[in-house]
Amino acid sequence: MAPMTFPPGAPTAVRPTPYQWPQNIRSAACFSVDVDAESPYLWAHRDRMPPTLGQLEARRFGPRQGLGRLLELLDRHAIKASFFVPGIVAETYPSILPTLLDLGHEIGLHGYFHEIVAQSSDEEFAHALGRAIDLFKAQTGQMPLGFRSPAWEMTPGMLAELTRQGVVYDSSLMGFDHPYDIGGMTELPVQWLTDDAIYFKFLGGGADKWPPSAPGGVLDGWRDEWQVTHDEGGLFMLTVHPWISGRGQRIALLDRLLTTIGEAKGVWWARCDEIAAHHKASVNNNRLTVDADLPAPIGPRRPETS
Ligand SMILES: [Zn+2]
Repeated sequence: MAPMTFPPGAPTAVRPTPYQWPQNIRSAACFSVDVDAESPYLWAHRDRMPPTLGQLEARRFGPRQGLGRLLELLDRHAIKASFFVPGIVAETYPSILPTLLDLGHEIGLHGYFHEIVAQSSDEEFAHALGRAIDLFKAQTGQMPLGFRSPAWEMTPGMLAELTRQGVVYDSSLMGFDHPYDIGGMTELPVQWLTDDAIYFKFLGGGADKWPPSAPGGVLDGWRDEWQVTHDEGGLFMLTVHPWISGRGQRIALLDRLLTTIGEAKGVWWARCDEIAAHHKASVNNNRLTVDADLPAPIGPRRPETS
């Protein structure tokens, strides 16, 4: 077969690039939690607050009950997780960050008001990031190492700003299913398929396009995704939200999933900061590097010629 050629700057292979984990480790798994609570609602209604309580209360279930259930689940499975917390959530619920640290979990940044990238500028991002870092330091005495973008969008300028403000890794993009480097930043990739929101987020009031998925089908999909990731030596990044996955049937789903993974050999359950530290200290560092450049627009559509 003739060698295949690919665009410059993007390492590409017919088979996925083998990622090097610590000795005797076949794959990594990371339990990540985006502690959104009511912050996306505050952002969406930042100019005018509706006179209703329904969605606010549904989201506040997260810090009130869902988070505690997730912490009990993690404790049962002896897993340390990474929790990405918007600044306004830490400010509103000031016991969250210290409690998570006391339990051995990691806390990471997730905007201040859960700013949606397409609705804000790089300058606003820089300001929100600095404000959130200041709050984290004030509440915990520690600089958070990681950032996860609200709704998982990024710009090249945001990646550069993370580096400028001392953030060590990002976890918002999907270019591989193992760690890599983009725009000078270590990336611990997420993916929609292993995010609870796309299956279970339900707002009510006629706003939803479809009913929430049944947990059984999602469990099958997540088990398959984990198995292939494990077989190929990747990073299984699960993302849940306390207001969504803190409900009983989803705790039961997660319990079954963690039991399946717990029975396998060679799985490294690790927090994002541990995975980022491994990445930087390993042969993988700068071996899986891509640019964060945007392509030029392709120009207006050419008229039909035939
Ligand atoms: Zn979020």
